[in-house]
Amino acid sequence: MADEQQTLLDECALARAASDPEARIEQLRREIEHHSYLYYAKDAPEISDGAFDSLMRELRELEDAHPDLVDPSSPTQRVGGYVGEQFAPVRHERRMYSLDNAMDLGELDAWLDRVKEAFGHMVPVVCELKIDGSSIALTYEDGRLVRAATRGDGTTGEDVTANMRTVRDVPLRLREGALAQLADAAAPVELRGEVYMPKVSFAMLNEAAEANGRAAFANPRNAAAGSLRQKDPAVTARRDLSTFLYAVADERALRASGQWELLQWLREAGFHVNPDVELCETEEAVHAFCARALERREDLPYEIDGVVVKVSSFVQQEAMGYTARAPRWAIAFKFPPEEKTTILRDITVQVGRTGVLTPVAELDPVVVAGSTVARATLHNEDEVHRKDVRVGDTVIVRKAGDVIPEVLGPVLALRPEGAPVWHMPERCPSCDSPVIREEGEVAYRCISIDCPAQALERLLHWASRGALDIDGMGEEIVARLVESGRLADVADYYTLDEVELSLLDMGRVNKDGEPIRLGQTVAKKLVAAIEASRTRTFARALFGLGIRHVGKTTAELLAAAYPSIGLLAAASEEDLAAIEGIGPKIAHSVYLFLRTPDNAAVIERLRARGVRLEDDAAEPAEQLPQTLAGLTFVLTGSLVESGMTRDEAGAALKARGAKVSGSVSKKTSFVVAGEAAGSKYDKAVSLGISVLDEAALLHILETGEAPAVQETPVG
Ligand code: NAD
Repeated sequence: MADEQQTLLDECALARAASDPEARIEQLRREIEHHSYLYYAKDAPEISDGAFDSLMRELRELEDAHPDLVDPSSPTQRVGGYVGEQFAPVRHERRMYSLDNAMDLGELDAWLDRVKEAFGHMVPVVCELKIDGSSIALTYEDGRLVRAATRGDGTTGEDVTANMRTVRDVPLRLREGALAQLADAAAPVELRGEVYMPKVSFAMLNEAAEANGRAAFANPRNAAAGSLRQKDPAVTARRDLSTFLYAVADERALRASGQWELLQWLREAGFHVNPDVELCETEEAVHAFCARALERREDLPYEIDGVVVKVSSFVQQEAMGYTARAPRWAIAFKFPPEEKTTILRDITVQVGRTGVLTPVAELDPVVVAGSTVARATLHNEDEVHRKDVRVGDTVIVRKAGDVIPEVLGPVLALRPEGAPVWHMPERCPSCDSPVIREEGEVAYRCISIDCPAQALERLLHWASRGALDIDGMGEEIVARLVESGRLADVADYYTLDEVELSLLDMGRVNKDGEPIRLGQTVAKKLVAAIEASRTRTFARALFGLGIRHVGKTTAELLAAAYPSIGLLAAASEEDLAAIEGIGPKIAHSVYLFLRTPDNAAVIERLRARGVRLEDDAAEPAEQLPQTLAGLTFVLTGSLVESGMTRDEAGAALKARGAKVSGSVSKKTSFVVAGEAAGSKYDKAVSLGISVLDEAALLHILETGEAPAVQETPVG
């Protein structure tokens, strides 16, 4: 991780701690205990392991920073677990420890450094997969299984002997040859490992649970723990449990010198030992094992959540010793969690190019699934309320692989008192215009034409080919003009002059280090293009204004009914909705747009600068005989023979009085199907509408003759 990033993360952790460490520690302990109970006693966690570990880590960091607040009963000082009353308690011959975690390669290396420090050099370590199951201790006396116990709180576990006897891969007797290697074959020997449920069996169990209306298990680990702690061993027997053994309680019971030899012995004794183990002599070999395990994780038939690295020699293990809850001679390298907790510092609002206001979570930076997350979209106000996230909350953030980070929700118990419910601001944070929320929509929008956040897109839209077609006015030039303060809204196009444009700094330098300017040739062409755009049809200008829901065809319908901006602006919402092809949604949007004072001001400036905002009688449509009046055409596919675009063909049809629509309905008279015609063709066929080919279209355009309605050739 980059140093800068680390510093930022450290600063955030410190800032959190600084507010009131004692209260935060207390809150965290209570919350962790609550989730531990759900996890260990109920086998029904409510949050992911990643989120749980994240809370635990925050607590550990706070306790490290405030040693005076450390308490022996803190969850950081104990082996997490639970001893239920339905099973007889079993005192372990030796304590069952948990493992310390390395959350990334840096922490793994720090542990390897400690190992080297302890012995002056690297020593052989065993790498094993960290099986995501439940700890189990099996005691054999005289070679026979006499007891099985859960880890419980590490000192006392639960007697689950009857249940473990039903697990098929647990040998009830040790094999003869292995017995000979015990220091005392008749003395009890306690062997330890993991009980787990294969992924397939877990899926089947949950399917059956759902079908019978029973609660499903959260994950295979909880399913294994739950199946093991059944009152009735017959139930356990029906669950497909398996084991991997990897430890002995007291290594003196065995004539083996270390972990590596122990694994061989367990195999010989008849236990299931995971085949993916490696004795590593170097740090590189450890890294390579971890990388391979992460890669293969998905393909394994059981869940793993990391790699356990253990100093192999028993003598060296003893030399490194234990902390209150874990051996110092081993470390669990955890795979990057996909969920973590962090603080929601603020909810800001971003204005998109189309004016949509999006709430964004501003988070204390946190590394999730290998990358730092500091912001995440909250989509819209409804989503913020549904998730009930509030500023100051500790929230769970999820990021899986390349997927966009997401805030899942708050850890309610850690909510600061009085944290208010969040609401969308009433005014646009970019331009301060009032924002609106249309009926039936989740998004709030700023519909001001003057909103700088939306300026670039609106400007580009105005200049685009289908609208005012200012040839050559591309994104780079428009962006430079916006940055230099020369373009704020579309009316500003008509104030640009050639000299000014030619000197426009393009923000780049040539090989001599001088700024690159737009230059005279391009400037001259642009000015001519701007000039030409003043006299496009009213429909194109209307489309160019970028009114919501007003596409090209809609703009044409509106312009046909109200051929000037003045007439259109005077029309009521009902008048607009009465135009054929215009629904109430469009009518509302147009009405609102034209009545927004900022928009009216821009329109006024356009008119003052000579942009034509009305149609005059000299439109070509009026000159041709209106032989296609009353007919509605839909064009689909590409017109290869004539090389016309669909827009051009549509304009030629309209010039003879036809209507051209974008979608096929019962009102459609003809569908013109060019090459590679798609769903519109299919719809025409299904509705029995006449389909014309390109040759027929060309004939109509040449002669002006209206085609006869025919039966559709059903294909
Ligand atoms: P742990 O699971 O992180 O690690 C210790 C355990 O790893 C050992 O006890 C052992 O059972 C197991 N293990 C698996 N393979 C092993 C191997 N090859 N060698 C040695 N040990 C191996 O620690 P934990 O204290 O048992 O439990 C903490 C875990 O439980 C964390 O992952 C935590 O997220 C989860 N937890 C989750 C919640 C929740 O609400 N989601 C609550 C409590 C705990």
